[in-house]
Amino acid sequence: MIKILLDNGHGKDTPGKRSPVWPDGSQLLEWQFNRDIVARTATMLREAGIPVECLVSESHDIPLAERCRRANAFASRGDCLLISIHANAGGGSGGEIFSYPGAQQSRRYAGIFGDTWGEHLPEFRFRGCKEANFAILRDTLCPAILTETLFMDNPDDCKFLLSDTGRERIARWHAASIKNILK
Ligand SMILES: [Zn+2]
Repeated sequence: MIKILLDNGHGKDTPGKRSPVWPDGSQLLEWQFNRDIVARTATMLREAGIPVECLVSESHDIPLAERCRRANAFASRGDCLLISIHANAGGGSGGEIFSYPGAQQSRRYAGIFGDTWGEHLPEFRFRGCKEANFAILRDTLCPAILTETLFMDNPDDCKFLLSDTGRERIARWHAASIKNILK
């Protein structure tokens, strides 16, 4: 069976990568959010008997080259699929998924994540599957996609990202999409 590699970008020492401080004092730190979604998704996959590895157990920032090296150590030993989990910023709302330009299998997998979105996060817009020359997509030997779930600098999106039920639903979307890919 394909092994699922979960990557959580950024660490507590990465500059930026956080929401504004909202009027109620709350703030989303992306490194913490990414790790929480990875942990929840990993639990859901393991409960379904799907082999999963989390590439980063540390809370500090692990350089991309090292994350790719860890992924490739698994990918060189058998079939893997890598999912790098993030929250977006830069003004907007909703979700988008990236694969490396021209990587057709990764693009198909991104499409399955897109098809699964409406079932799990219907109140948010799915912005589409896109291509990007990101190192984690380019320098890994296995199919790889990167999810950007909602915008941490949008107040409504961020409220959802900060909530326990929101995180549970985001993890469920990831787990359900992976299960659909493995079908
Ligand atoms: Zn990120």
